[in-house]
Amino acid sequence: MKSLRLIPLALMLTTTASSAQDPLARVEQEAAKVSPAMIEIRHHIHQNPELSNREEKTAALIADYLRKLGLQVRTGVARHGVVALLEGGRPGPVVAVRADIDALPVTEQPDLPFASKVRTTYLGQEVGVMHACGHDVHTAVQLGVATVLTAMKADLPGTVKFIFQPAEEGPPPGEAGGASLMVKEGVLENPRPQAIFGLHAFSEMAVGEIGYSEGPALSAADTWEVKIVGRQSHGARPELSIDPIVTAAEFIQALQTIRSRSFSGHEPGVVTIGTVHGGQRHNIIPADVTLTGTIRTFRPEMSVLAEARLRAILKGVTEAGGATGEVVRYERGAPATINHTELTRRVVPSLERAVGKQHVTRVPPAMGSEDFSFFANEVPGFFYRLGQVKPGTTSGDHHTPTFLADDGSIPVGIKAMSVLILDYLSRPR
Ligand SMILES: [Zn+2]
Ligand SMILES: [Zn+2]
Repeated sequence: MKSLRLIPLALMLTTTASSAQDPLARVEQEAAKVSPAMIEIRHHIHQNPELSNREEKTAALIADYLRKLGLQVRTGVARHGVVALLEGGRPGPVVAVRADIDALPVTEQPDLPFASKVRTTYLGQEVGVMHACGHDVHTAVQLGVATVLTAMKADLPGTVKFIFQPAEEGPPPGEAGGASLMVKEGVLENPRPQAIFGLHAFSEMAVGEIGYSEGPALSAADTWEVKIVGRQSHGARPELSIDPIVTAAEFIQALQTIRSRSFSGHEPGVVTIGTVHGGQRHNIIPADVTLTGTIRTFRPEMSVLAEARLRAILKGVTEAGGATGEVVRYERGAPATINHTELTRRVVPSLERAVGKQHVTRVPPAMGSEDFSFFANEVPGFFYRLGQVKPGTTSGDHHTPTFLADDGSIPVGIKAMSVLILDYLSRPR
């Protein structure tokens, strides 16, 4: 673990605010000043990734940095969450901004100088650990935003709550964690923000570009597990069996009618079967088959409908085949992330000011999911995408070993989020 050079921090804190200066120019200046140190922090976090609910050292680094900035820091929120409060020198509203800090059980393709070589045990398996979703970038950006706004503290009209969230990717089975636990532990109280903001590095967008959706932005994610129980027999004597593989095949086909027949053509949704497990040998009809999958929707009533249809289809096809079907679990994960319409319209011009109007694009909602929604279901929220791909290069998809976020996204993210927050606080309703 190399030592972090955080010397620029002291220099930045001595900078006195000049109220005469254009705030955008001031943010630009402060963001440029802090970015090299934040890139260094990002490299350190990237090289030392920690899985969901295990972000001990990452949280310590964050808390240490924020304390040195002079913020009021709370640690141990939802296990390894860190929350810091910056009170501006002028009265104004309270807003929150959230970054997630956890990594994934993915083995990095080691061609970066700061690639992760960390290995650990996850669910009994030895795995590599990698920031394969860009949460290292989010953390560095948000520390940068805290630095920029602290440097402008005297002129800051209001309060900013910085939320560093663990376990966005979901806690290990049997553990609580992530945004929902933070909300349960009162992260949105004392003081309660009137809006919350967040961003996500995006593997299909170039550095310098920003994308956003108004209204639905990211889907809800349900997961399910189904078991179909038949009767085992010799592979040559199907008449003695109740074949769960044939029944599973019918279930697989019929499940697709949820999307195609039960949803309107205008209703976004995905029904995916991710695993099918059954059988030991080519000449044995097995006793049972287990299937798991995910269903993505944007409206809670569609999730309810999808679950009801899944249960009905399972009951129907298993009855027809003489088998029995059991929904072992149907779990609702993060709800859909819906960007508050009025808030979106209010803050997008700030992003345009920060990075240039031509670099801010309205994009269709994505079928991925984010637990930012637990915050955005409590207070109006806005979540946008930050381009991460260095022009002339490519990035693998999120959660894969070739996922690659360029350092260039960090200064852009710092500037965009700082301007957004500053503008919001400066122009209360
Ligand atoms: Zn992810
Ligand atoms: Zn992510």
